[in-house]
Amino acid sequence: MAGMKSAVPPFSGHPAMPAAPPLPVPTRPACAHCLALAEDPRRREPHACLALRNTAPHVSASAAGVPFSMLSFTCRECGTAWRLYDRANELFVSWVPEHPLVR
Ligand SMILES: [Zn+2]
Repeated sequence: MAGMKSAVPPFSGHPAMPAAPPLPVPTRPACAHCLALAEDPRRREPHACLALRNTAPHVSASAAGVPFSMLSFTCRECGTAWRLYDRANELFVSWVPEHPLVR
């Protein structure tokens, strides 16, 4: 008599895994330069891998009426898009990534 072993593979009947929500934008991990910039967003100089996207700054005013200029940069290494805000009467600028950095 041959043993009638159950041939059920261990994962048959396993409930389907819930699908991960799709990411709207494929993201790459931020490079070391961008992570360093995120740590120190008030410095004026763009890091070595940032390329200016628009040569003319976008000039506008905040809701409080403070004029500011904004420049757009893209990192050549990791593709992170950055905006550099330079407000009138402020000593420091601020670097803001267009999407949260992926670590
Ligand atoms: Zn980068």
